[in-house]
Amino acid sequence: MRLKIRVRGIVQGVGFRPFIYRIAVKNQLAGYVRNRGDAGVEILIEGREDDIKRFMNDLRAKKPPLARIYEVITEQLKGEPCYDRFEIYKSSYKSELSGSVIPPDISICEECLKELRDPKDPRYDYFFITCTNCGPRYTIIEKLPYDRENTTMRDFPMCSFCHDEYSDPLNRRFHAQTVACPKCGPKVYLTDRDGELVEHKDPVREAGRLLSEGFIVTIKGYGGFHVAASTLIEKPLIRLRKAKHRKQKPFAIMAPSIEAIETFAEINPTEKALLFSYTRPIVLLRKKDEYYLSDLIAPGLHNVGVMLPYTGLHYMLFDEVEDPAFVMTSANPPNQPIIKEDDEALKRLDGIVDYFLFHNRQIAHRCDDSVIRVHGEKQVFIRRSRGYAPAPVILKRNSKRCVLGLGGELNNTACVLLRDKAFISQHIGDVENIETRDFLEEASQHLIRLTNSKIEAVACDLHPKFTTTNLAKRIADENGYQMIQVQHHYAHIASLMAEHDIDEMIGICCDGYGYGLNGEAWGGEILFCTRESHRFKRLGHLQEQPLVGGDLATRFPLRVAAGILYEKVDVMEWLMQHKKNLTHGEMEIEVILKQLETGRNVVETSSCGRILDAVAAILDVCYERTYEGEPAMKLESLAIRGKDALKLNPILRGDILDTTHLIVEIFKNKDKVSKENLAFSAHVYLAKGLAMLAVEKAKEKDVKAVGFSGGVAYNEIMTSEIRKFVESSGLKFFVHEAVPPGDGGLSFGQAVVAGFHYR
Ligand code: ZN
Ligand code: ZN
Ligand code: FE
Repeated sequence: MRLKIRVRGIVQGVGFRPFIYRIAVKNQLAGYVRNRGDAGVEILIEGREDDIKRFMNDLRAKKPPLARIYEVITEQLKGEPCYDRFEIYKSSYKSELSGSVIPPDISICEECLKELRDPKDPRYDYFFITCTNCGPRYTIIEKLPYDRENTTMRDFPMCSFCHDEYSDPLNRRFHAQTVACPKCGPKVYLTDRDGELVEHKDPVREAGRLLSEGFIVTIKGYGGFHVAASTLIEKPLIRLRKAKHRKQKPFAIMAPSIEAIETFAEINPTEKALLFSYTRPIVLLRKKDEYYLSDLIAPGLHNVGVMLPYTGLHYMLFDEVEDPAFVMTSANPPNQPIIKEDDEALKRLDGIVDYFLFHNRQIAHRCDDSVIRVHGEKQVFIRRSRGYAPAPVILKRNSKRCVLGLGGELNNTACVLLRDKAFISQHIGDVENIETRDFLEEASQHLIRLTNSKIEAVACDLHPKFTTTNLAKRIADENGYQMIQVQHHYAHIASLMAEHDIDEMIGICCDGYGYGLNGEAWGGEILFCTRESHRFKRLGHLQEQPLVGGDLATRFPLRVAAGILYEKVDVMEWLMQHKKNLTHGEMEIEVILKQLETGRNVVETSSCGRILDAVAAILDVCYERTYEGEPAMKLESLAIRGKDALKLNPILRGDILDTTHLIVEIFKNKDKVSKENLAFSAHVYLAKGLAMLAVEKAKEKDVKAVGFSGGVAYNEIMTSEIRKFVESSGLKFFVHEAVPPGDGGLSFGQAVVAGFHYR
């Protein structure tokens, strides 16, 4: 019997062909296996029918841990058998690699970890031990095909021991491009702050000891540098906050084990599975009542971002210390991408850190850690990066054209949409300056190259002044591509629709800011979106509220609160109580009131984020926003301990949800009702009001699906309250599972609109 088999999925660079070889040989079959790029892997087998049956069973049941099979197509061939053995054909042609799926970086596997700890193993204590099932991929690949000479491992020729394993189809390291050992692989070394070598026979564990003693150590990893510090000693954390100009923004931490995490945070089964998964993301976990790590790690928040070690090096850091965790934050200067070059690290981190733990392998591509939060049992991406990028999001339909989406401004990513695959880049950051813009362009080009895509259109935001809009214009001009501008909140909802393959949706889209159809500031919208036309309709929104001083109001939420309260209550006295929380004190209050009176320097917004900010200011949770989402995040942290004490009925005026009513009620009750309860009631008011509006519109339009997207969808209380209302109305409720609801998912949404919706 002769059979041709095509397997589609993540089947390249994950040890899939060696696996096929092994099960073919085991079942006494002849033939070949080869990569067919976008078409996945092609297998031809010849042999007895029983053996082929067993082979097919093995194919499904025993596949390598990193392989993902989307589809298996078999075709029985006529003719006589013509192979006398089974072979792995080398991948060669570029066309074969079009749309290939590049695997992301993978955490160290169980077997490698065992070898790392085994004194008899040749790779005992080797900090970069890897095999076909684990190790870096995306961050070392310069071009395809994925062979050693196309990666930054080419600087490390294999020794004979490694080469023997690499060449043995029955070995776990067969064709593992990252295979290396202490003899032939990358080396690790410790330097002082000036880059002077610190002689030590065990530099990694020495770095761990230094961290434990209170020094700040920069550690080079797979996709960039981390700055590490103790989680128990305040001094290095104070230094770090000062030097990084990060007053309040939470630091991620790394803990050696689940047991260590359980001493300070709560872990539910979904979170545990995520922490342990081969993607090893940072998971936001709820602090325990007896939380004992420094309050400087995640000030004012109920949760803390924790990850488990994902390389041998990380595990070794903890070997000789008792610390429950170390701070492990991306080494990036403010508004700049994560550092990846050694000399850049020495220069940029000068005066901030005490030691550097370097290794001598180049980083081909930066990649920050991923961040995930769990709502109940559902994961919500906050940042989809290491461990995920650039593995594609698989869609149910083919795009009409090949599109590059460049995203918005904050927390940005790029996306290449090719047929039924959306390749979303790693986290790029806030694209406000040359460095991040260049990183965005570089990451886009890398994605295009790796997938061998022929771009037809570039999609970007509607905002005329965004750096990404200008970049899109330039790329479109230079290459003769069509440029398609997509409204911010429409892109959010379109991404949600594509993820769930839905044709029509009433979308609730809430975030901080997006450029409206006529240049207005939007951020609390009810949109009706269909796949058929490239149009959407704004059916409702939050009441427009004044931002006194424009962007200043975004930074100082007291201004938002004052603007809303101004018409209804005398805010003078209250503002005077807060004069120390405004940069210019009394003088600033005078200016604010004057501007409200005249309407000068006041812009209007329907943003949901700003309403949450205003509540945060009234409840004394946050007066200055030092990082994106800070007031709203701190408000949620407070609300999580509260209940709906106010039981306000949302007031709808036509298609507009009245938010002044909410703010005034919160203000009036601020000294009578507990802050936790007021915070919770504010969430319920907004969630219920938006859900009522959405359900009303869904019934009017006879649409069955209601979705929730935008940065506010990170908020668990908002999401669950909206869900309750929508589902009790008999409609289906959708949230993101594969891409972030925030602006990290925007490039994908733009690409979807440009790829599917346009004619
Ligand atoms: Zn391994
Ligand atoms: Zn070796
Ligand atoms: Fe947004």
